[in-house]
Amino acid sequence: MTPSPSDASANPDQLRVLFATPECSPLIKTGGLADVSAALPAALIALGVDARILLPGYREVLAQLPHCREIARLAPMAELPAARLLLGQTGAGVPLIVLDCPELYDRGGGPYQTEAGSDWPDNALRFGLLSRVAALLGSAASPLAWRPQVLHCNEWQTALAPAYLRYAAGASAATLLTIHNLAFQGIFDPGLVAALGLPADCFSPEGVEYYGKLSFLKAGLQLAGAITTVSPGYANEIQHEPLGFGLHGLLSARKDRLYGILNGIDTGVWNPATDPLISCRYDAGTLASKSNNKRALQQRLGLATTPELPLFAVISRLTEQKGLDWLLQIAPQILTLPAQLALLGGGDGVLERGFVALAQGHPAQASTRIGFDESLAHLIEAGADAFLMPSRFEPCGMNQMYSQRYGTPPIVRATGGLADTVVDCSPAALADGSASGFVFHEPSAQALLAAIKRATGAWREQKTWRALQRNGMARNFGWEASARRYAGIYAALASGG
Ligand code: ADP
Repeated sequence: MTPSPSDASANPDQLRVLFATPECSPLIKTGGLADVSAALPAALIALGVDARILLPGYREVLAQLPHCREIARLAPMAELPAARLLLGQTGAGVPLIVLDCPELYDRGGGPYQTEAGSDWPDNALRFGLLSRVAALLGSAASPLAWRPQVLHCNEWQTALAPAYLRYAAGASAATLLTIHNLAFQGIFDPGLVAALGLPADCFSPEGVEYYGKLSFLKAGLQLAGAITTVSPGYANEIQHEPLGFGLHGLLSARKDRLYGILNGIDTGVWNPATDPLISCRYDAGTLASKSNNKRALQQRLGLATTPELPLFAVISRLTEQKGLDWLLQIAPQILTLPAQLALLGGGDGVLERGFVALAQGHPAQASTRIGFDESLAHLIEAGADAFLMPSRFEPCGMNQMYSQRYGTPPIVRATGGLADTVVDCSPAALADGSASGFVFHEPSAQALLAAIKRATGAWREQKTWRALQRNGMARNFGWEASARRYAGIYAALASGG
């Protein structure tokens, strides 16, 4: 393919960064990574970085981008099929390079799993291709005139790119890998090394090998120029068991290259003063209007429309990580406080069935919506009184930040990014104006219940509650400070540091 001059950077002094990711809001989202992938590149562009995104052309992505144009054709390699690169842009105007390969991405189901919830059997090839193309675009063999100085990889799905670059001829981009959740590692049969077009000698402890298997994430952690993760707390936790998930040794060996940078939130999308998805807009000065959203939420969920009971809410993937088995265990006690409980989420079948049965048994007080619903998520943030995140671990977490911005104090366990972003409602923190939620430590259902009881007591004292709400709403969770830190790391990497 001939390089297209129109794809070169407009300003040669700008730092060029390719942000490779398997999801990006609102085109395709399973969790916080999608929000980061939409907002961070936009914040980088605002700082003068020439950031572009690389995303697989899943069926639902292409359906939302009818005006993409082809910019390159890529030949097959080993068992990776031929593909095309298309150019579009995100809603925020960030250039978006879409990797179109119908054989691997044009299908129903989710980006990583089938509709029935099992991993796609060809995930190694699907994300091997994504990694390989990210690396190609950062190498001398790129078909594009625009060549990034830094390749920013995200999660295991792009973490093989540093391995491809290691074996590429000619000058290549520096690499940064961000861990959004170390629990997901992309571990496959070693026989796939050849299928992915990697040389046999990369299958070693210094390369992609991990206890006799091929590990995408291990490869990236071993070979990337720098590693970041999404909160300072999680950066510490992953250097030890149990949250190192077997990679703590490698991570602590690389700690001089490991940075914890807190995710920001998109303060344009998550703003109760302008949010088109909520019933009644409000800010810190008009908090009384928040009750209209509570009523609208209760109506939408079929709950009793009473202002008298505190309404606790959850929006989450239903997995072991999120600690919602504890919530299910104590749900009957929460309802007898009395209080209301609303849950939006999906995942683990046992949890889904448990929360559905709870709602069926107590329709006026408990509601369960299984599925992914962005607009309901906004109304929940605006309409709930308090937000629950009892996670066993949480690399960063987004909803506790959205909640604070919406005057919906979060109740969180002291782990990872939750501990970094929520200040417990202690008398001292209330007095100095920093308290913004409720933090509990012990990983147990009883500790969660105690925190919910504390929150219920505070909710009944209007003055305390208003103070908590206003403290949270005054906090700045925007991207600018974190985007500056990323830009600093890119600059150091690009200059060989
Ligand atoms: P994780 O990435 O581990 O799933 P985060 O808190 O970092 O958790 O991010 C979750 C993001 O996904 C938030 O923006 C949250 O609102 C959203 N989300 C999760 N489940 C749902 C759902 N069922 N419907 C709508 N949004 C959801």
